[in-house]
Amino acid sequence: MSEPRADGAKIEIHLHHEGAAPPEFIRRLASEKKVDLSKIFDDTGGYVFTSFTEFLRTYEAACTVLQTPQDFYHLTRAILEECVSHGVIYTETFLAPDFCGNSDVAAWRDYLAAIEEAANHAHQEHGIVMRGIATCVRHMGPEQAKKSGLCAAETAGDFLTGFGMGGDESIGHQGDFAYAFDMAREAGLRLTTHAGEWGGSQSVREAIHDLNVERIGHGVQCIKDPALIEEIKARQITLEVCPGSNVALGVDVAPSWAEHPIKALFDQSVRVTVSTDDPPFFHTNLTREYDMLADTFGWGAAEFCVLSENAVDAAFCDAETKKTLREKVRKSWINI
Ligand SMILES: [Zn+2]
Repeated sequence: MSEPRADGAKIEIHLHHEGAAPPEFIRRLASEKKVDLSKIFDDTGGYVFTSFTEFLRTYEAACTVLQTPQDFYHLTRAILEECVSHGVIYTETFLAPDFCGNSDVAAWRDYLAAIEEAANHAHQEHGIVMRGIATCVRHMGPEQAKKSGLCAAETAGDFLTGFGMGGDESIGHQGDFAYAFDMAREAGLRLTTHAGEWGGSQSVREAIHDLNVERIGHGVQCIKDPALIEEIKARQITLEVCPGSNVALGVDVAPSWAEHPIKALFDQSVRVTVSTDDPPFFHTNLTREYDMLADTFGWGAAEFCVLSENAVDAAFCDAETKKTLREKVRKSWINI
């Protein structure tokens, strides 16, 4: 056990762009655009929902006021400033072409350009580095996913480096979306998908075998399946674990922080990382996640350095950026 502290350099690789929108930012946009979103906020001004399905509905309602590339420019600045305030030096966010011009390639280019411009400005001002992962929305179905895959493939490059899938994991199978993932892979994009959050270990197996992803969003259901854990380790797949999100949403394998599988997975040398998913929805941020891990499992600088280095290894960015990130992480956590 090492010294308990959570103030070192952090790397985040599972963050939904719209899901990171501060509630006050969405409220301000709603009032400017005269959209009534009062139902999605509680008395204290936070987002309100009581189940995963309702969470998706609240999330999509909040997205309705994000209507222009300029809105996404300001959203990106707000998100990255929040990240910087929690010691995040590198973040990858999930960008859904469906929420940026309904997966029309020309419209998506404009949205992505605005997001990249905001990321460049934040980098100049705060040093934070961002990369984008285009994502299809599972419950919108495979045909819509193909459109998102095409948007991703057409804009693959130094900033947009990955493709993935979010949304309701209970709909269909991972393999139904193989066309979109194949298109993205052929364009040189790195791949991840949400699996093993609500779906069982079979969903994780399908993600690995049918979509050939190198990272899994959540993946915590593998804790029930020792053979799957061995396969994840053998294939060096990284899990994008979001403990606060799992506990807030009541995922069955994580009824509380103390029972969250991240400790058992870490102890079995699975390549785990820690991210916040949709932080304001779950009343969390990366500082709180690290603090909770310190309080619950006694983790400190040594463990946080491993988590952060795992995230650097799994990051969808170039080798030179990784080298710089790794140096900053090691210096800040273990002074090497
Ligand atoms: Zn997620």
